[in-house]
Amino acid sequence: MFRIGLDIGGTNIVSGVVDNSNKIISRRQILFPKGQPYSVFIGLIVNLIKEQSKELRIQVSDYKSIGICVPGSINREKGTVINAYNLEFHNVPMIEAMKTHFTDIPVFLENDANAATLAELNVGALRGYKTAVLFTIGTGIGGGIILGGKLFNGGMDHGVEPGHMIIDHNGPLCTCGNRGCIETLCSGSWLIKQGQEAIVKYPQSRIYRKTQGNREQVTGKLVIDCAKEGDEVAEDIFYRYVNQLSLAVVSCANLLDPEVIALGGGISKAGEFLFQPLRKLVREKSFFRFPYKIVPAELENDAGVIGAAMLGMI
Ligand SMILES: [Zn+2]
Repeated sequence: MFRIGLDIGGTNIVSGVVDNSNKIISRRQILFPKGQPYSVFIGLIVNLIKEQSKELRIQVSDYKSIGICVPGSINREKGTVINAYNLEFHNVPMIEAMKTHFTDIPVFLENDANAATLAELNVGALRGYKTAVLFTIGTGIGGGIILGGKLFNGGMDHGVEPGHMIIDHNGPLCTCGNRGCIETLCSGSWLIKQGQEAIVKYPQSRIYRKTQGNREQVTGKLVIDCAKEGDEVAEDIFYRYVNQLSLAVVSCANLLDPEVIALGGGISKAGEFLFQPLRKLVREKSFFRFPYKIVPAELENDAGVIGAAMLGMI
């Protein structure tokens, strides 16, 4: 039996057909139709599912469920996306629109960070744990919490927003209107911004040389690579970054006493170069003895698709 998982992002839409063992047997990616009417978007994903099924010779009516995850807030009862700023979706009827095309298949909707957490819990880095946290660190920071072995969706069903925990009230302005949220200080965007400033301030730095002074070419990975190669300017940025990230991890751990905290998204690809100093700083700052694990997430870019496909199983 197969399920469909759709991960809707501001740049790409990924559709995966997932089998009973939660493996993606077919993956397709199309561009998100920016600035187009909502009906165009629905038409695109309906076609995507139909084409993919045709290729696999699966009858659409044979799917057990269709799960959709979006980067934004959702109303589960109404099946609507309340706000997904990157998609410019505001109070759009996702489930109703899909049900007009797929009448016999259950359709589910979830926030993308929650879907990723669900996937990591079932088949990834959080497997077997009862209390766990996932941070997905990319342009912004999302995340999810597992309590009692289940996805915790907040006491009022609003979800959780670990990216907006505040660690510096004088920090940079966040999209949410506050200052110093971890999204502003621990995301890949922070690394990029620091790298771009370094180009202006330190033209002798490796960051400058690698980008030839072109700020558009600065990425989080490039800054980390320069730090790995021993560039002092990049090392300084990187260790400030790790320190800030350790505050986020410690704050979260002090609140929840979790068994494990997993870090996903592009930043986790830095590997032990990131995790080793992070664990050291967390150990120093942690209120409790430091028994919890800090590990990379396992499912990388597939977490959203696998988690969305799982929505029909819970
Ligand atoms: Zn914020």
